[in-house]
Amino acid sequence: MTNTSSTPIRLVVMEGDGIGPEITAATLAVLRAADRVFRLGLKLSPVAIGLAALRTQGNTLPDAAVAAAKAADGVILGPVSHNDYPPAAQGGRNPSGELRRQLDLFANIRPAKSRGGFPPRCGAPVDLVIVRENTEGFYADRSMFLGSGEFMPTADLALSVRKITRAGSLRIAEAAFALAQRRRGEVTAVHKANVLRVSEGLFLECVRAVAARFPAVRYEEKIIDAMAALLVRDASAFDVVVTTNMFGDILSDLAAEIAGSLGLAASLNAGAPHALAQAQHGSAPDIAGQDRANPASLIGSAAMLLAWLGERRGEDRLARAAAAIEDALERAIAKPEWRTPDLGGPLGTKAFGARVAALLEEAAR
Ligand code: ATP
Repeated sequence: MTNTSSTPIRLVVMEGDGIGPEITAATLAVLRAADRVFRLGLKLSPVAIGLAALRTQGNTLPDAAVAAAKAADGVILGPVSHNDYPPAAQGGRNPSGELRRQLDLFANIRPAKSRGGFPPRCGAPVDLVIVRENTEGFYADRSMFLGSGEFMPTADLALSVRKITRAGSLRIAEAAFALAQRRRGEVTAVHKANVLRVSEGLFLECVRAVAARFPAVRYEEKIIDAMAALLVRDASAFDVVVTTNMFGDILSDLAAEIAGSLGLAASLNAGAPHALAQAQHGSAPDIAGQDRANPASLIGSAAMLLAWLGERRGEDRLARAAAAIEDALERAIAKPEWRTPDLGGPLGTKAFGARVAALLEEAAR
């Protein structure tokens, strides 16, 4: 195993909008604790994006921010209020979509996991991962080489282009099967090939081709509408779920809420050379600035980033730091008096982050 632990790990931190600054600050408190305990050599560099960058630099995603993300070992991105941004010509760029595209972060890995004994909203405790294709599908900013994937040929006709490619489908399927091999060995492909025979048909053809290369992984297929019902009935029945971009976005919010709360929903956007930690949820403007948001989502995402870096760099201490953060999160959520308001608890965002950091440091003593 190569040990490159003397090389610093450069993480760019973009706090985003709404609850972004609060949950990012709590996440950094935990990362600093992990850095102290495991001597990770983290170099955390704040980079402004979102409405703060619009005010000071005239753009919600300045080119320098993209360059910093490309040059870093990893990115921590807080949620963004891109629906409040002005049009692109006036400086409004969606940092989330744009970074996924520019860093080719094709795999959005979205676990839905019941934590700390907090009961799922329905059914048995959940431990599944949605592997969502991230760079094509129905997203207007990702489906075209030039121009938008949504357009209006007449005032009364709006059209959207949905892009599915063989290369995109193969690589997301490969990511899903590789993950399933390290988990319980089951992949469910979710699709709508009964209606979208050509595009969903191509997606399924690719997933089946990859499935044939992983005979030890059990494989099944579900239609998206049935899958929504099956998740509510018993989400514990699923291990790894692979699907196209928009289905994955919707299903993962459903699965995360069933597992406990959107506030627990971590995610990693990963490509070959880059990875970006990002909570599954949005910027929650309804609770912004009130110290009420649950930062577990972004803390868990940061742990996923450390685990990804550990695997890439062959550094065990990163894997151990990721596991220690997960363990501290689990133990914090296990105590009702340490939970945040979304889980019925009394702790604010900052206090919860401090609690997780303290648990991590205590465990190391
Ligand atoms: P956006 O427009 O940025 O997507 P939104 O409020 O429409 O924001 P989310 O941010 O995903 O969508 O929030 C959906 C609901 O979940 C809101 O009621 C919000 O308060 C709640 N929520 C989201 N994230 C958290 C969190 N980290 N902690 C507690 N509640 C959260």
